Amino acid sequence: ITAGEPIINHQICVCVRKRPLNKKEVNKKDHDVITVPNSESVLVHEPKTKVDLTKYLENQNFRFDYAFDENCSNELVYKFTAKPLVDCIFEKGMATCFAYGQTGSGKTHTMGGDFTAKGQQDCNKGIYALAARDVFRLLASKYKKQDLTVGSSFFEIYSGKVFDLLNKKSKLRVLEDGKQQVQVCGLKEEEVHNVDDVLKLIHHGNQCRTSGTTSANAHSSRSHAVFQIILRSKKTRKLWGKFSLIDLAGNERGADTSSADRQTRMEGAEINKSLLALKECIRALGRKGAHLPFRASKLTQVLRDSFIGGNSRTCMISTISPGMSCCEHTLNTLRYADRVKEL
Ligand code: ADP
Ligand code: MG
Repeated sequence: ITAGEPIINHQICVCVRKRPLNKKEVNKKDHDVITVPNSESVLVHEPKTKVDLTKYLENQNFRFDYAFDENCSNELVYKFTAKPLVDCIFEKGMATCFAYGQTGSGKTHTMGGDFTAKGQQDCNKGIYALAARDVFRLLASKYKKQDLTVGSSFFEIYSGKVFDLLNKKSKLRVLEDGKQQVQVCGLKEEEVHNVDDVLKLIHHGNQCRTSGTTSANAHSSRSHAVFQIILRSKKTRKLWGKFSLIDLAGNERGADTSSADRQTRMEGAEINKSLLALKECIRALGRKGAHLPFRASKLTQVLRDSFIGGNSRTCMISTISPGMSCCEHTLNTLRYADRVKEL
């Protein structure tokens, strides 16, 4: 999609982003089984074989609020997903944006953007940075009179435990007070003044996230990363609004529940639980009086304040790989996204 304007008053927006085939896939002769025929549909051409061994393609069509093909930039995806939610936090609201999908499908590319080895991010900013850019823009213009400060926190949830990515990965406790307010105790919140401050934090947090593990992707595929932009009143320091941007664990990990390795199995069970609870919590946003199973997982528990209250809005960006080798995971992702949207 290149034309048109985003819908501004969505409480829940669910979209899909397809990435291009990469070199490795092309070399392995994997081929593209996904088409995006218009800005709202995704078609999966799944090769199948009948009992009598005739081969055929099963075409499955999914519809979403927006569908982005492999030529769409982060900036364009941002414009239609997270950008319409930025105003909400200035109006005392809570916004969330999730990237959901298989490992390697483009969640981190979408949310965090790509950094050079030196930690610079000139060419391809992700949604964390683009949202921060617009927060600073609005703070200097439309909402100048409100006297607000901007802070950021960055943490990760790994196997049901919370770690502060801005504070040497220290383990944090999550407490619920009598009024059902959930607190991540001691979570560091750094004041930020411009996009560069934010980029430094993201880079620092990312390095912290993967330190001590053999492979960056092996670790990040099993953890949820939560980046938050927090507005506070300058005078009272009271919370004004919050934008939580979440790079979820790879959804294929939720299936690791029958692995031979105990650790992997437990991580898989936790991921599975959190992704199911998340789906229910988002669905509950659209339905008055619906049950909110936020205690079912650490992820939904720490995001509780974003799922209640009158002014909560969310968007989910489901990222998919185009290759036939990923077809099964892609279908799982599309089905999950479809369920989130269905009221
Ligand atoms: P995930 O976080 O879901 O595991 P990544 O974001 O790390 O996946 O993406 C895997 C690789 O594919 C990265 O090298 C990334 O730069 C590339 N990639 C992902 N999405 C896109 C896209 N839309 N356009 C170009 N390259 C992409
Ligand atoms: Mg990633």
